[in-house]
Amino acid sequence: MNLKKILALALAATVLFTGCENRREETKQALENQKMENRHEATSFAMDTIMTFTVIHEDGDQIIIDAEQRIRELENLLSITLENSEVSRLNAAAGKEAIEVSKDTWILLEAGKNLGAGTGGAFDIAISPVVKAWGFTEAEHHVPTQAELDALLPLTNPDDVVLDKMTVYLEKEGMAVDLGGIAKGYASDEVASLLKGKGVESAIVSLGGNVFGIGTKPNGEKWEVALANPLDANDYCGLISIEDKAVVTSGGYQRFFEENGKKYHHIIDPATGYPAENGLLSVTIISESGMEADVLSTALFVMGLEDGLKYWQENGGFEAIFVTETGEVIATEGADACFTFEGRDNDFTYRMVERG
Ligand code: ADP
Ligand code: MG
Repeated sequence: MNLKKILALALAATVLFTGCENRREETKQALENQKMENRHEATSFAMDTIMTFTVIHEDGDQIIIDAEQRIRELENLLSITLENSEVSRLNAAAGKEAIEVSKDTWILLEAGKNLGAGTGGAFDIAISPVVKAWGFTEAEHHVPTQAELDALLPLTNPDDVVLDKMTVYLEKEGMAVDLGGIAKGYASDEVASLLKGKGVESAIVSLGGNVFGIGTKPNGEKWEVALANPLDANDYCGLISIEDKAVVTSGGYQRFFEENGKKYHHIIDPATGYPAENGLLSVTIISESGMEADVLSTALFVMGLEDGLKYWQENGGFEAIFVTETGEVIATEGADACFTFEGRDNDFTYRMVERG
């Protein structure tokens, strides 16, 4: 029986048994059971990360397959490690010629450039040469010398990514774009709209920590997303309740390597060429746009707590939760409204910041 039939029956039942609370309860229960039967789940690996899907819909399995296909399509365009991707071709043509790109690549480059400019350069789509020098997109990691970084930093100016009528030109040889800090967020928005287009009203999707919740859980409660404890992969610091929102976390604990006893992570401060180090362990952004949340989680992690809060105060349109090295969990006013802090045994303390 499909959901429409169930709903029609439920409606008929409600009319027939008006005044009969027991029957009404039974009907409600039948509806909830039906929704549970329509719960489809899958896990896959793409874009260098684990993706999980929970979709409540009678065609859920097929819808998830369609979503995975869309993600692969994006990966094939945007990946910096796939040699034949559009982004790889664009990078190979740096300093030589302009490349015509598809709509998805264009949208990401344009949004990445504009949003990045808004963050004062903390988010930089042209950071790739430096990320490569650290080995994050290569087989081996290593700490580059200051001379190497000094030579590469002039190649990371996003203004030298020239966008013109669906063609893109990287002005200097050696330049390269890296959409690693924005592509998963965009993919989550694309998946969300694909799901909604197929009539899905209840789903939660995680693309490597880029979470998007559609509607609510089948029982009407909000979706809950755990705020990871950056110091312990098996623990969390609280729960974020969402409805039709994206939740994205960036943190140094997600990808890093160790050399001579020191940890180096994958989020680079474009001002120095070094992994951003300013007392933060993670930044989580809650927003209607997965793409914006992805950019801002990376950018605010680079900015640090003080400048990150200032950016939030001046721009709005999103909420944020910061976890600091000193053990503080700090939520903006709107994030506080949907966040339940759980200190438990992990020594974190919590406070909220008002917009002021
Ligand atoms: P993750 O990809 O682990 O979810 P982020 O969204 O924070 O984490 O993106 C980090 C990735 O973005 C890095 O692996 C690198 O490819 C790229 N990157 C690193 N530093 C920056 C930066 N300052 N601006 C834009 N992209 C960056
Ligand atoms: Mg990001």
